[in-house]
Amino acid sequence: MNYSGTSPDLPALSGINLSRRSLVLGGLALGTTFALAACAPSKRSASLTGGAGNGAITGDVPERPTSFLRTSWSTDPFAEGSYSFLAPSDVGTDARILLAAPVGPLHFAGESTSSSAPATTHGALESGRRAATEIADIPGTVLVIGAGFAGLAAARALVDAGREVIVLEARDRTGGRAHTVPFGGALADLGPSWIHGVTNNPMVQLAAEGGVEPIAFDYDNEIGGSEKAWLFFEELTESALDAGNAEARPLSELLPDSVNVTQQWALSVEVSNEYGTDASELAIAALDEGKAIRGGDALLDKGYGAITDYLATGLDVRLEWVVSEIEYGDDGVTVYSVDGAQLRANLAVVTLPVGVLRAANVEFTPPLPSDKVDALAGLGSGLLDKLWLAFDDVFWDTEADVINWIDPHNPGLWPFWVNGYKAFGVPVLLAFNGGGVARDLADWSDDEVVASAMAALSAMAG
Ligand SMILES: Cc1cc2nc3c(=O)[nH]c(=O)nc-3n(C[C@H](O)[C@H](O)[C@H](O)COP(=O)(O)OP(=O)(O)OC[C@H]3O[C@@H](n4cnc5c(N)ncnc54)[C@H](O)[C@@H]3O)c2cc1C
Repeated sequence: MNYSGTSPDLPALSGINLSRRSLVLGGLALGTTFALAACAPSKRSASLTGGAGNGAITGDVPERPTSFLRTSWSTDPFAEGSYSFLAPSDVGTDARILLAAPVGPLHFAGESTSSSAPATTHGALESGRRAATEIADIPGTVLVIGAGFAGLAAARALVDAGREVIVLEARDRTGGRAHTVPFGGALADLGPSWIHGVTNNPMVQLAAEGGVEPIAFDYDNEIGGSEKAWLFFEELTESALDAGNAEARPLSELLPDSVNVTQQWALSVEVSNEYGTDASELAIAALDEGKAIRGGDALLDKGYGAITDYLATGLDVRLEWVVSEIEYGDDGVTVYSVDGAQLRANLAVVTLPVGVLRAANVEFTPPLPSDKVDALAGLGSGLLDKLWLAFDDVFWDTEADVINWIDPHNPGLWPFWVNGYKAFGVPVLLAFNGGGVARDLADWSDDEVVASAMAALSAMAG
């Protein structure tokens, strides 16, 4: 993943996102994007919009942070986005089942193949274990493509069962979209930060085995925002449950003709940030996905990187091995690298992200069958980007977990912040943008993005 900071030896903490508020509430999540035009971020400083403040700012807002970290998941060729979402299509929710199905010696895993917990770390973990179970009785050597949660989980299970496994990873590190770096005195997660739904969640056990402590996080412990916004979203969710043809229709079809600023903000948090896409691109049925996730949410004291490090211990992982082609047939699998290297095995577990598969960054020979093509057409690669900001001192409310910001002129911009001080005890904030707004911001310079976030903080002061 790409990020940048003003300080090479950043300190900081981690944040999160993928607000699962609706899931926590036991509902679905729904989203919308209707008002992309209204939400499109302007490079104009948010403070110029004259917000009335949100009560979160308790001191003087400095002109600049002491350091920052910015993600850019849409420009990362080994991710091509943040996580999968269900797009309106005739395939509907079968898309994930079709994507998970084996093709000859190829077996598929990754968050996008999880029907029970898509777009999550534990969905990826479980998918890797499922793929390992699939091939438990098929003898032979195994190549695992990708060293994220899915690939590491598959390799771990197979190696523990005595199988010969090599993991091929394009990056110079393991973890994939899970990536933790020191920043601002804490450990900042640049991809996932939360365990969503701690009840019966295999990630909780794995974290404990790896010596990683959960930090309870309460999305409802918030400052700013609007009760009216949550009510609007709840009603929208209910109408989504009753909607016909929910797999083929976009959520935007359920929105009223006119959506006010508060409602736009709710959609920004619950749809664009949650799914990484806007309502016009998200299937109504997406709100029904992930309902098995139960319990509260937790951040991690050492970040997700400590868990993937633990999972990778002792595995044969070949880093900077960028796969260019996967050739498969009755006699096994040959995998080629961009450098001209090749490896052969009886079986392969492919854990490439949905964005990488959709972009065809890796060639399959023969091409994948039509079921897989249909599955990929029924899924999208969403975008959620993070901005970590470190400061000398805390100048915001120290008790809230979440700081909501409704910019009256731009409610999709910087709508959701995590109070890093409460979670990690250091003066750090984590801000998010999702969907179309995040895609627009991906073209901005670092200076423009940081200035815009600082303007939002000033505007929060009223
Ligand atoms: C900003 C952000 C926030 C998120 N927040 C949360 C959260 O709070 N909680 C949560 O549960 N989930 C969250 N997620 C989702 C979570 O990160 C993913 O669901 C999970 O990490 C996916 O794991 P995976 O193994 O399926 O894919 P990946 O981790 O992407 O693993 C795939 C691997 O394949 C490798 N690869 C790609 N191309 C090639 C190639 N050509 N050759 C070789 N290797 C290749 C990649 O480098 C990568 O290591 C978030 C994601 C992002 C980006």
